[in-house]
Amino acid sequence: MTQDGDTIFGKIVRREIPATIVYETDTVLAFRDISPAAPSHVLVIPKRPIVSVAHATKDDAQLIGELMLAAAEVARQEGIAEGGYRIVTNIGQHGGQTVFHLHLHVLGGRPMEWPPG
Ligand code: 5GP
Repeated sequence: MTQDGDTIFGKIVRREIPATIVYETDTVLAFRDISPAAPSHVLVIPKRPIVSVAHATKDDAQLIGELMLAAAEVARQEGIAEGGYRIVTNIGQHGGQTVFHLHLHVLGGRPMEWPPG
């Protein structure tokens, strides 16, 4: 795990590889997951690379808040807000994290199961 932004998501932020971007601010980017796990599956990331929330500090508090609000905005945009949806962030090996650039999964368009597998 590195903090240098050298992940596939860093490349998406820098427009070095394509992605279907659905929402963007100065600090946050949201794009469709390449392998959707629900009818609507969007990833919301800070443009500044942070490995996970476990690596965030108090200096990142505003950015983390912006990320959550962006996820809620994406859900409204996707038309899933009324029916309900799930925001997930995977952390580390047991959390199932595979890309080490903090991201929120916004999943909706079908009923979600609990507990997750
Ligand atoms: P994680 O397993 O780390 O929580 O989630 C990583 C997510 O990134 C996965 O759902 C995976 O499908 C998605 N992903 C991996 N590589 C790419 C890519 O190149 N483009 C996009 N749009 N999504 C990706």
